[in-house]
Amino acid sequence: MSRIRIGLVGVGKIARDQHLPVIAANPDYELVAVASRHGRVDGVAHFYTLEGLLEGAGDLDAISLCTPPQVRHALARQALEAGKHVMLEKPPGATLSEVYDLIDLAREKGVALLATWHSRYAPAVEPAKAWLEGKKLRRVHVSWKEDVRHWHPGQEWIWEPGGLGVFDPGINALSIVTHILPHALIVHAATLEVPGNRQAPIAATLSMHDHRGLPVTAEFDWRQTGPQTWDIVVETDQGTLTLSRGGAVMSIDGVAQLEQKEQEYANLYALFAKLVAERKVDADLAPLRIVADAYLTGRWLRVEDFVE
Ligand code: NAP
Repeated sequence: MSRIRIGLVGVGKIARDQHLPVIAANPDYELVAVASRHGRVDGVAHFYTLEGLLEGAGDLDAISLCTPPQVRHALARQALEAGKHVMLEKPPGATLSEVYDLIDLAREKGVALLATWHSRYAPAVEPAKAWLEGKKLRRVHVSWKEDVRHWHPGQEWIWEPGGLGVFDPGINALSIVTHILPHALIVHAATLEVPGNRQAPIAATLSMHDHRGLPVTAEFDWRQTGPQTWDIVVETDQGTLTLSRGGAVMSIDGVAQLEQKEQEYANLYALFAKLVAERKVDADLAPLRIVADAYLTGRWLRVEDFVE
């Protein structure tokens, strides 16, 4: 197979931390150009807009979108209309309808579409899913608490409508939970704590269950200083599984299992190459659906203003 000629849009934190090094290390890809108003990549053609990139970058196969969710749908539509395969950062859109529209368009055009959920590729996630298989699950609790000032400095978009607030990291936990649990989850109660001067929650709690009554609760909080918490605890009839550090480590009854190398984005680009070869769509909406349902059912509490 010839190399996938790819363009990347939105040279921000995640593009620099993960996408650019992972594309550079994967022989299946050739990074042809980037589009970003402020970002540049040494030795790679630059355009200010996706439109400019599609016109000026020569024959491209694929586009990877690393922008905030609010502008993703319009960009993805433009790329799909141009017949390009598209990779979407998480969350795949600001609304469910946007993503359904993209799925339909990708199928109509016969190109690949990947809605990425990077946390599903954290090293301990597949081992956890395998360990849970066949066991009787009693209770699941998610605790995802981090310091927004440390992880999202200056990211104004994250506090705007469509930016998801604390669900921006929280949806990573939901992507893991919806992958390792056997049945779909239904939200029956939620609280959203929204600072008086912001449009998105700084903290949230969710109560969910599956159709068999398995209780699943989640606490997301962006006000945590000191040690950070990204844990999922699953109580079963044969012991308690804990996924900690965002899915990096699995423990059974407090005993850590073998740690493996982190390869989240390497795995995502390997999957995208496969989808491109097969012209397939991979877009699971379960994590975004839970966030949407939390917004629909949630009780809103106005809390102290957030000043960075
Ligand atoms: P970021 O640092 O703010 O970068 C986003 C980039 O998108 C900006 O550099 C900006 O580049 C471009 N952009 C285009 N339109 C924009 C707009 N209207 N407002 C703001 N920026 C705009 O954000 P990020 O942390 O990389 O996150 C981007 C996406 O990746 C989010 O959906 C996030 O959930 C996801 N993600 C982030 C992380 C992480 O660790 N940060 C991890 C996994 C996934 P120009 O201004 O140059 O156009």
